[in-house]
Amino acid sequence: MKFYSTRDRKLRVTFKEALNQGLSSDLGLFMPEYIPLMGADFFSRLPRMSMPEIAFEVGSKYIAEEIPSSILRTISNEAFNFPVGLKQIEERKYVLELFNGPTAAFKDFGARFMSQCFKYFSEADNYQTVVLVATSGDTGGAIANSFFGIEGVDVIILYPSQKVSLLQENQMTTYGKNITALEIDGTFDDCQSMVKSAFVQLETNGKIRLTSANSINIARLIPQSFYYYYAIGHTGNDKKVLSVPSGNFGNITGAVMAWKSGLPVERFIASTNINKAVPDYLMTGLYNPAASVKTIANAMDVGNPSNFERLLEIFDHDWERIISMVSGYWFDDDQIRQHISYEYKKTGYILDPHGAVASLGLDRYLNDNRGSSGIIIETAHPAKFCDIVEPVIHRSLDMPDSLKIFLSGKKKSHFMKPGYRFLEEYLKDRYKL
Ligand SMILES: *Cc1c(COP(=O)(O)O)cnc(C)c1O
Repeated sequence: MKFYSTRDRKLRVTFKEALNQGLSSDLGLFMPEYIPLMGADFFSRLPRMSMPEIAFEVGSKYIAEEIPSSILRTISNEAFNFPVGLKQIEERKYVLELFNGPTAAFKDFGARFMSQCFKYFSEADNYQTVVLVATSGDTGGAIANSFFGIEGVDVIILYPSQKVSLLQENQMTTYGKNITALEIDGTFDDCQSMVKSAFVQLETNGKIRLTSANSINIARLIPQSFYYYYAIGHTGNDKKVLSVPSGNFGNITGAVMAWKSGLPVERFIASTNINKAVPDYLMTGLYNPAASVKTIANAMDVGNPSNFERLLEIFDHDWERIISMVSGYWFDDDQIRQHISYEYKKTGYILDPHGAVASLGLDRYLNDNRGSSGIIIETAHPAKFCDIVEPVIHRSLDMPDSLKIFLSGKKKSHFMKPGYRFLEEYLKDRYKL
């Protein structure tokens, strides 16, 4: 299987190259040259399959030529060694809980699979890999946790000083070893542009392999399809509606890939906060990306979702085709808060602000489609957003143990002024470039 660039179908690379490059050299996103079909036999066994088994079988279709099957099995077991929650909270409504990983958000799935792939390839060729990542808060922690202690891979995280929560900061700055945090005296955009400049300008002279771990990496996208098979397979193995709380649209792209491979899905709901470029597109056919607006579902504050390009690609850039499968709904902060309270009173289930957006989207669809049932994707543990959730439901929440340890801990970061030359100086000095 090769991977092509969304900007140029003729530009094709291996999985390893796509993993290492992140973005294609023409700034397109990598896509598999075809979506492999999963056969009838796979779907008949699905209700009895575990996450690692699904990961192995689906993952093989994409990367069996490059990673031996015994190793892919180990990767699947290591990456998905925590439970996926699946609950029925109303007659026609299920919740897929993706927050049981070490950072209590769904990004653990993609980050852990990707780090295992890096580990395999860097062991195979003895290269010093340097992973650069800019974060507005959550991605940094997921990457730090997944790459911690992996031989041959250094992770350098750039985050905006004083613009992340204490918990988020500790999730990036307390690991040590191969994880370095650069605290940038600027904004997320400063961090992002420093990282981008390094990819374009840094002369590595073959001494290190510089790579990115941001959400557009194909090795984060593929594993984000695995849990959709699990969800459908373990809720009756029949056609359902999937409501995905969306920001950069990587999670929902994983869902659409699973459907393309044969998974029974009635419809996708792209549920967003007021950053609503995609719901607007679905309504009108016109795509108008905008600057991002801050909301209480902040991991979805994306004005110009990068994976939208991939979604268009899967539907051949045909609006009619997209709207035959995907609906979009958006909700403001008041609606999100009210819904957390409403769902808690109605069912006792505690949603986080992101899951609440998905739940609102599903409710709206089910209201008009009485015979349907669906699954909402709960992407973060509600205790991660306790400052928003607790006042709404009038009770306190227990923090998962995996997060509790980050409430304390000794922060270690390098303070840095914004601007690429400061990053360049640091990298040249550290790696003797
Ligand atoms: C990143 C994130 C999202 C959005 O996922 P995308 O793949 O960017 O659409 C939703 N919820 C949470 C909690 C997240 O961290």
